Amino acid sequence: MRSPYFQLCNRIVLNATVICYSFILLQGCNSTSNLDEVDTQSRLKETVAALTDSTMEGRETGTAGERLAGNWIADQFEKAGLTVRGDSGAFQQFSYKPHPPMQMHGSGDSLQLGMAVVKEIIGQNVLHSIESSCGTHWGVIGAHYDHLGYGDENSLFRGEPTIHFGADDNASGVAGMIELAQRMKNHPIGHSLLFAAFSGEEKGLWGSNYYCEHPTIPLDSVRFMINFDMIGRLRGDTLAVYGTGTSPGWMELLEACNEDSLILVPSESGVGPSDHTSFYLEDIPVLHFFTGQHPDYHKPTDTADKIDYEGIEKIVNFVERVVRKLSQESSWEFTATKDEDEESTPSFKVTLGVVPDYLFSGQGMRIDGLTEGRPASNAGMKRGDVVTAIDTIQVIDMMTYMKALGQFEAGDTSLVQIQRDGNSEILTVTWD
Ligand SMILES: [Zn+2]
Repeated sequence: MRSPYFQLCNRIVLNATVICYSFILLQGCNSTSNLDEVDTQSRLKETVAALTDSTMEGRETGTAGERLAGNWIADQFEKAGLTVRGDSGAFQQFSYKPHPPMQMHGSGDSLQLGMAVVKEIIGQNVLHSIESSCGTHWGVIGAHYDHLGYGDENSLFRGEPTIHFGADDNASGVAGMIELAQRMKNHPIGHSLLFAAFSGEEKGLWGSNYYCEHPTIPLDSVRFMINFDMIGRLRGDTLAVYGTGTSPGWMELLEACNEDSLILVPSESGVGPSDHTSFYLEDIPVLHFFTGQHPDYHKPTDTADKIDYEGIEKIVNFVERVVRKLSQESSWEFTATKDEDEESTPSFKVTLGVVPDYLFSGQGMRIDGLTEGRPASNAGMKRGDVVTAIDTIQVIDMMTYMKALGQFEAGDTSLVQIQRDGNSEILTVTWD
């Protein structure tokens, strides 16, 4: 998944409603393929272990590690009997030239502004399909396999370059996608399915953007896109589902397929910090499944030993029911979600330097991670603290938090009220 700042600026879980559909069982959803459960978890583990192996060097787009990972994923799809669907075999290459960072040369009067030299980066998507003989409709299942290598510009780790394993982000999603592909191949449905392992996601959704501009199946026959990004840390069976407003049928279908009583935290917007956004912008209904933020996000400590395989299995079981149920629908309507215009996102120049907990449904903004040396950390805030007011401004949710940030400039000082272990405390924050 992309960085929290991108998340902040684009899509916020607003007034996330926690919905527990405990006893809903509907016909048509309970047909899973009954692969052995122990096997499922060992298969998921195998994928996460392979992608987080140090030989893959954190899978940064355009590196040898990314190529190794892409080849490994293609092998798995081939073993499962899927058909290659890239531009050449299983692969689709894309190139991207990042915007050059500005650099200062010289000093004093001779200070000059120059452009750093940037190299073109070539990444590759890995694309396979299961084609149905009884229809022309497609569904897309996606998960990005790239990560931050030794710590690129999106790393939140401050230290010497070191491998960022990206077990949750997003070996977990790739593992879920491969498992789902094997099941759908064994027990096919009326839809054709494209399984897309995207690269370039961490750099800015490059791979999925390129795919939507150069699709290898007709995009106008794609009924839905489902994205797995960070599904390896299921806690308390709470699962965030983004994009629920992109079709009027999503919520009902999700409820009907929620046989394991997952606590769904839906969010309507089709624009978010991952690859489903590229498909939503092509007017395709999307869903993004996500088990939430954590302090290891975009750090070398996002490792395989912290992955909850039973949790991934529950999510795969759930999504399998969703995909099978979708194939029984004669149509699947798209709706645009209303909150993606930039105007609705407050602008601000300062931040606390924290990773907000996007799954927090209480009042305030709960801190899920802190960057050392930034205002929150400097003021003594800790993970788990809930910010409830900044000076005189009440913080109710992410939107009011961002609106509050808009009132301050670097160098200003504020009194921030937090809740910690049931007590209220006031800390002094200096904005930077
Ligand atoms: Zn990420």
